[in-house]
Amino acid sequence: MDGYNRDVDLKPMDAEQFREHAHKMVDFIADYYKTIENFPVLSQVQPGYLRNMLPDSAPNHPESLDDIFNDVQAKILPGVTHWQSPNYFAYYPSNSSIAGFLGEMLSAGLNIVGFSWITSPAATELEMIVLDWLAKLLKLPDEFLSAGQGGGVIQGTASEAVLVVLLAARDKVLRRLSKNALEKIVVYASDQTHSAVQKACQIAGIHPENCRLLKTEFSTDYALSPDILCEAIAHDVAIGLVPFFLCATVGTTSSTAVDPLLALGKIAKSNGMWFHVDAAYAGSACICPEYRQYIDGVEEADSFNMNAHKWFLTNFDCSALWVKDRTALVQSLSTNPEFLKNKASQANMVVDYKDWQIPLGRRFRSLKLWMVLRLYGIENLQCYIRNHIKLAEHFEGLVAQDPRFEVVTPRIFSLVCFRLLPPRNNEDNDKKLNNDLLEAINSTGKIFISHTVLSGKYILRFAIGAPLTEERHVTAAWKVLQDEASVLLGRL
Ligand code: PLP
Repeated sequence: MDGYNRDVDLKPMDAEQFREHAHKMVDFIADYYKTIENFPVLSQVQPGYLRNMLPDSAPNHPESLDDIFNDVQAKILPGVTHWQSPNYFAYYPSNSSIAGFLGEMLSAGLNIVGFSWITSPAATELEMIVLDWLAKLLKLPDEFLSAGQGGGVIQGTASEAVLVVLLAARDKVLRRLSKNALEKIVVYASDQTHSAVQKACQIAGIHPENCRLLKTEFSTDYALSPDILCEAIAHDVAIGLVPFFLCATVGTTSSTAVDPLLALGKIAKSNGMWFHVDAAYAGSACICPEYRQYIDGVEEADSFNMNAHKWFLTNFDCSALWVKDRTALVQSLSTNPEFLKNKASQANMVVDYKDWQIPLGRRFRSLKLWMVLRLYGIENLQCYIRNHIKLAEHFEGLVAQDPRFEVVTPRIFSLVCFRLLPPRNNEDNDKKLNNDLLEAINSTGKIFISHTVLSGKYILRFAIGAPLTEERHVTAAWKVLQDEASVLLGRL
């Protein structure tokens, strides 16, 4: 007796029940995608909306999948912001694709936990191979390939990627100095760097006053200036501090600024620092030969990261990290308890990815990246990127034609930073005006955009990258923006 009523109850793993239920789920998801444009892109619910719609405790007896689907329709979908909507233009994209789904599905189906090679040799070996493929596609230096001292690993997010390399760099410098030197070591990045670096410093115990976020300017398109970096390093060295980590960004979160990797990397090297490159969003564009120039200088980097889950058709989560010296990672993150010992690991014959990341357990994420690369192929992936950049160019052109607006920073990839200009007699009002426009736009549910602040100015961000977005969506979005702007300006 296993406690299940064979006629009606859902067993944990029965192949035929799985087939029936999973088919229904696939139909549900396919229908969702067919009708995705009907939903308000940004969820319009109020905080706490779900509490009163669901029971206080879990059911004692099984419920049917149909009842659950009804609840998903009536109660869950209203609280969903539709990241895959073609009218989603906020933050940066987070791509889904059929290939990505299939890989996720297979990964869920096999449900392995691949912390050591022995726990599923294919999981480790496929990850190494697929990250070598992607490294070659990005023309990363050979030292990042798994054949030598380096290699790639899939982290959950760019935040985890920067944290693990920061830990490796910290321990490397502390081995050189002394364990007590933690208060002396200094991290550098620009003030445009993603807050993930600051969080990594907090977790790694870097003293907050030793985390330098160097000022960037409009005049250099918000890229980190090598001169300013040199000055900061010289000042710190003069007062007895030890520079040990530099993070540069290719495609900053606010405005897609590109830091000059070659010059920054040389400074890092001459000061014995670890040089990390965060290309979480823009890295995907560098698979196209015409955009590869933006990571020129990556040869100087110790580690490089791009999020395949942003703009590379690979469902969340899949953040690709490459390092030149995997020993540094392993020295910081390895543990070797008796219960995990096995012949292959003890003989040092294999990679055990548990030693390259924070958690022990890990999913078989390389399957989805492998599916994406195989089911689409490089040429289609390049076209996909180019198409979004062309759509962004189209949007930029529309903004430039309307004298009530300005494009604020030069567009490089698929993000356009722009703002509504305040009328002459009302110039102090620009932040409120643009914030009001953002709120008005997003509350229509027709499109979803986000904002940032650059040099004290409130800026609207229009990021193209959802897999279903076409030119007609971009043109319609611009019309929504223009109409709401007319209403707001008419009220002033
Ligand atoms: N770095 C950059 C440049 C980003 O744009 C982002 C997110 O948008 C991140 C890091 C953080 O990404 P994740 O959510 O993968 O940690």
